[in-house]
Amino acid sequence: MSEPIALRLEAVAGRIRAAAAACGRHADSVRLVAVAKTFPPEAVRMAAAAGAQDIGENYIQEARDKYAALQPLPLRWHFIGRLQTNKARTAVRIFELIHTVDSVKLGRELDRCAGRIAKLQKVLVQVNVAGEAAKSGVAPEQAPALVRELSRFEHIAVKGLMTLPPFFDDPQRVRPIFAALRQLSERIREAAPAGVEMQELSMGMTGDFEAAIAEGATLVRIGTAIFGERA
Ligand SMILES: *Cc1c(COP(=O)(O)O)cnc(C)c1O
Repeated sequence: MSEPIALRLEAVAGRIRAAAAACGRHADSVRLVAVAKTFPPEAVRMAAAAGAQDIGENYIQEARDKYAALQPLPLRWHFIGRLQTNKARTAVRIFELIHTVDSVKLGRELDRCAGRIAKLQKVLVQVNVAGEAAKSGVAPEQAPALVRELSRFEHIAVKGLMTLPPFFDDPQRVRPIFAALRQLSERIREAAPAGVEMQELSMGMTGDFEAAIAEGATLVRIGTAIFGERA
């Protein structure tokens, strides 16, 4: 039962190392976030036993239950779903990194909640690179201003950008979107306000993570290749 997850995780780790090597990057410059949405705590436990250290979740309620069930495993939890301001308090309690901040309003609420528990909450700004109507994220043109505004909050640290591109059958078609996120990140970094490091690029999933690594991903969010198809 634990074999498939351990084997799949090892296979994914091998592909990450190979993709990094292929473009002259160090394997440890890419962190694997194992995306566990819809899978039970036991699946996360198996992944952790096989070496996973970073777990991605999309839904606050589900994450809260899993997080509680898995204490005291030393995991880093990543929030990669759509975050409503009324869930900010729970999010701040659980997550090491929140990948999906796309408004000042959400940033303000995260800042307030983080301040209450004396935490510096790390966040990424989600960018809707392809301008899809149904997707969250700020438009690329608005990202620099949002980073600047978030950097004024005392209890938030902006660590970089995240994107969730449109689905393409051919991962090479998504590469220009990954490249655009990297270029945007570089432009923001050059003009970065104090305290903004912009070292993280969260991009790449099961179908396209090698292309994302080739374009500079530092966090790849992989679910299906580790845990299997979601019901
Ligand atoms: C579900 C999800 C993933 C993982 O997708 P897979 O294709 O299963 O690897 C990555 N990022 C986000 C934002 C997701 O919602």
